[in-house]
Amino acid sequence: MACIFCQIAGGEIHAEILYQDEEVFAIRDINPQAPSHILVMPKVHIASVADMNEEQSTLLARLVFTANLLATKEGIAERGYRLVTNCGPDAGQAVPHLHFHLLGGRQLGRLG
Ligand code: 5GP
Ligand code: ZN
Repeated sequence: MACIFCQIAGGEIHAEILYQDEEVFAIRDINPQAPSHILVMPKVHIASVADMNEEQSTLLARLVFTANLLATKEGIAERGYRLVTNCGPDAGQAVPHLHFHLLGGRQLGRLG
């Protein structure tokens, strides 16, 4: 499958892996929008949050807890951070492999 994040998960495309376990991994965004901009995602291909099912509740929680852990590691936990996921065209989702953006290290603008 020509999914870029599946290829990174499978080691076919090189990326610095900041964190990984059996289910989840995290990399730095190639085009950072903040001093800390990390992508946290499942290893398995899921197109977006809209494609998650109830059996994946634990996976969803692991993604959030991993983001929290990385926020602490990055030193942005205290001042605050944003955890967002884009879903579909109106949200501007460019890569159809579920990922959370962990953003911090500066005052972030309002969403809209
Ligand atoms: P989306 O728009 O789908 O929510 O976010 C996709 C994100 O993936 C973008 O912020 C983009 O910069 C990042 N990205 C796209 N291709 C790559 C890549 O090959 N490596 C990394 N590290 N990030 C990527
Ligand atoms: Zn994928």
